[in-house]
Amino acid sequence: MRRPSRKGYFGNYGGRFVAETLINALDELNQAYESFRENQDYQQKLKTLLSHYAGRPTPIYFARRLSKKISVNLYLKREDLLHTGAHKLNNTLGQILLTQYMGKKRVIAETGAGQHGVATATVAALLGLECDIYMGEVDIERQAPNVKRMELLGARVIPVKTGSRTLKDAVNEALKDWVRNVQSTHYLIGSVVGPHPFPWMVRDFQSVIGKESRRQFRKMTGALPDYAVACVGGGSNALGLFSGFMNDPSVKCIGVEAGGRALTPGDHAATVTLGKKGVLHGSLSLLLQDEEGQVSPVHSVSAGLDYPGVGPEHSHLHETKKAEYYHCSDESALQACQTLARWEGIIPALESSHALGYILDHQSRYKDKDVLINLSGRGDKDLAIIIREVL
Ligand SMILES: *Cc1c(COP(=O)(O)O)cnc(C)c1O
Repeated sequence: MRRPSRKGYFGNYGGRFVAETLINALDELNQAYESFRENQDYQQKLKTLLSHYAGRPTPIYFARRLSKKISVNLYLKREDLLHTGAHKLNNTLGQILLTQYMGKKRVIAETGAGQHGVATATVAALLGLECDIYMGEVDIERQAPNVKRMELLGARVIPVKTGSRTLKDAVNEALKDWVRNVQSTHYLIGSVVGPHPFPWMVRDFQSVIGKESRRQFRKMTGALPDYAVACVGGGSNALGLFSGFMNDPSVKCIGVEAGGRALTPGDHAATVTLGKKGVLHGSLSLLLQDEEGQVSPVHSVSAGLDYPGVGPEHSHLHETKKAEYYHCSDESALQACQTLARWEGIIPALESSHALGYILDHQSRYKDKDVLINLSGRGDKDLAIIIREVL
């Protein structure tokens, strides 16, 4: 996949829209990352951790019973089997080694549902680094088990009391902390969002999903899939998968966003299909906003997709038609989650259930096609919601 321009643009999207005080920090990070990529020792360390600690390569599984039921050949890339139960660890492992490489002793992160906070606390414990996680007060209440997990892993969870006291505000507080402590601290962003070089760097760390998938799929079937499908929150698991197939014109890449309860304003997170150009958290991308350009509140049954923005590279892939974007409703995602559980004995995360839900909703369109879905995470964390909504 292409690198962004020197200023961090993917076509018309990306860049750096941050306070002057952060530009130096971002330049420094960019340089450190360039040299980290070329450092054989560190690349070897990363490879070893990905296999011995995280459990890579994750398998591709052919879902035989469900495929037969819907007349679509469904293949699942099993990121749900990765340590901590989702793809997020690919990125946090990469960035924590980068933190060590830069000689920094402390990491900070923002978290909404707590998944990225847990993945960050995990790798900070692994390398013995200090770790502070910013989390909105509202989210702390909603996600108590993840708060306890982070604390058990030795991280400090800092409640954010400003604004709506959710993810958006946690990002702002983390950015302020970074400005104050940039000498000692790395800000470990959790998706392909934020100012350059984050969207590029996080995509690089997640590209292991696509590289493995291409090799594994060919070995299994002798060919490439017709479609590569992934859910899109910020967009990191999707770009990870797509990056394996971007040079294969026969493979169509599909990103599935959260359609929420219905596609009415404030009730979904269909950023790419319904968003307009705007700046959020340091980069220019498509963004859900109202007539005055205020960021719209979003809703999805899955916390990991509940984000009004999307990584700038997705906006570019959409504009240049290199990938297609659709959405899946809460209801279809919940249904898909149950279907996969009952037909294959796999409980997927509600985020990943959106990718499957989209295919199930349109199965006739994909009849007899080979469809590779990135199963970005496991559903144990969503049990309370699943019980509330369907059981
Ligand atoms: C966080 C999360 C997502 C959404 O993040 P992306 O950056 O869009 O990949 C998707 N699936 C799972 C399981 C997650 O934890």
